[in-house]
Amino acid sequence: EAEKENLSFQAEVQQLLNLMIHSLYSNKEIFLRELVSNASDAADKLRFQALKDEALYEGDAELSIRVAFDKDARTITIKDNGIGMTRDEVVENLGTIARSGTRQFLEALTGDEAKDAQLIGQFGVGFYSAFVVADRVTVLTRKAGDKPQYGVRWESDGQGGYTIANEERPERGTEVILHLREGEDEFLDAFRLRHIIRTYSDHISIPILMDGEGEEAGEEKVNRASALWMRPKQDISEDEYHEFYKHVAHDFEPPLAYIHNKVEGNLSYTSLLYIPQRAPFDLWDRDQAHGIKLYVKRVFIMDDAEHLMPRYLRFVRGVIDSDDLPLNVSREILQHNRMLDRIRSASVKRVLDLLETMAKNEPEQYAGFWQTFGRVLKEGPAEDFGNRERIAKLLRFSSTHEAKEAADVSFDQYLERMGEGQDKIYYLTADSFKAAVNSPHLEVFRKKGLEVLLLTDPVDEWLVAHLENYNGKPLQSVAKGELDLGELEDKEAKEELDKAADEYKPLLERFEKALADQVRDVRVSHRLTDSPSCLVVDDHEFGIGMQRILRAAGH
Ligand code: ADP
Ligand code: MG
Repeated sequence: EAEKENLSFQAEVQQLLNLMIHSLYSNKEIFLRELVSNASDAADKLRFQALKDEALYEGDAELSIRVAFDKDARTITIKDNGIGMTRDEVVENLGTIARSGTRQFLEALTGDEAKDAQLIGQFGVGFYSAFVVADRVTVLTRKAGDKPQYGVRWESDGQGGYTIANEERPERGTEVILHLREGEDEFLDAFRLRHIIRTYSDHISIPILMDGEGEEAGEEKVNRASALWMRPKQDISEDEYHEFYKHVAHDFEPPLAYIHNKVEGNLSYTSLLYIPQRAPFDLWDRDQAHGIKLYVKRVFIMDDAEHLMPRYLRFVRGVIDSDDLPLNVSREILQHNRMLDRIRSASVKRVLDLLETMAKNEPEQYAGFWQTFGRVLKEGPAEDFGNRERIAKLLRFSSTHEAKEAADVSFDQYLERMGEGQDKIYYLTADSFKAAVNSPHLEVFRKKGLEVLLLTDPVDEWLVAHLENYNGKPLQSVAKGELDLGELEDKEAKEELDKAADEYKPLLERFEKALADQVRDVRVSHRLTDSPSCLVVDDHEFGIGMQRILRAAGH
């Protein structure tokens, strides 16, 4: 049997802890929300695993969370009968930066406390908030299905290390005991604790129990303990929606927007979907596992990133609860499930609707959204052909119109400004905004007063390759092939150009010879008005930026 060990936190955990204690100082009470949230997650996990193995309930399927306090010992205890943890899991989850996100979080730290405190919001680091009010935390836990002797006692003062030992534990689940810091006695109060629970955790779907007042009173349920998404919209306050979001998204900040829908008929389900304010840490992580929580008849089934939302909407968080899927649904079943396909495509439409409405009615809010998630949304036209036009409507770019870096020009605005005779949407791709506005390719367009969209994200080449046109107007790179300005071409210029091409033929041939390995062709062009020369690519080729990406990827 493993004995008691003294272990150190990973250096990063210590850093995180210190920051946490400082930045949450004015909002201490959220420790309770975080610990209750973990207890609720643990109950969800047990309920899901017990669908396959009922023995995990060990004869007790009534899941609940108990909150208690002891005035004399100066402790607060949060206890659940959820999944529990093994010794290894305790070390992994409470002592190390087990999740990639936490490391990215630490890399993002600037040393400026105010700025760093804001970063906390992006990462699920809830457990450590216990140390904001406690100078010693004890965790007692036993994994569901394990023998009592595999119980674990973990203890830490949040000062660099912790001890861990095995301890007999008849009941499964986890108990977190907070030994309050000097001066935190305000939390040793039933009224205060109830109030905090109702404020932040009312939406938790299992009962949160506290001892009632008076000698004889038994346990009382403090929260409403019903699935929030099942309640009628008009009965749910903005705050309740926000708190629920923080719980499902493991975020510290309220969401940017949400939509709540109940669908009845031959396919019945409820969806509550949120758009976060900030990018989740794993937005660019291919293996990202979170996203939408799938429930079947109120039972949590899984956190899913692939079956319920396409990748270009992977930032969406929330819950989908189906009445029709079987309770024993597996990932394999989800793969080709017609019901789920329909739920998914309806949910995508709702999210696109929400964004369209926001873009129209709250342009400032939409600008914030675009800055955070625009690059992800740009993957849409390639991934979701059916919704291509709707996604295109939501795209924003920089352009030569105002020549500012913030991307705020939509295709619709571009079309509105298009003059007589212009039949194409012109764009230029470049590595940076600076490179784009200074590009010699723009010279002739400036001279003619034609607006050009400036695309500077790596994904943009990919985007235009799949979009091809908007509202019937083809997208045309100003840096590709023969520059054909169509109706906008003036005749004399064209004739002059042909004449010049004849005149300079010998010179062009010498250039071609000298650059034989680097270029395919050397041409006279009216593209430029000030610069002597520029590189262009053929119409059917990827732009220079994309070629660079492909080369880097080994193509
Ligand atoms: P998050 O909840 O965002 O994952 P936390 O810091 O709140 O981050 O918790 C870290 C991890 O510790 C959880 O993901 C979970 O694996 C484990 N954990 C915390 N509390 C409990 C609990 N009451 N029961 C089981 N596991 C828990
Ligand atoms: Mg948590």
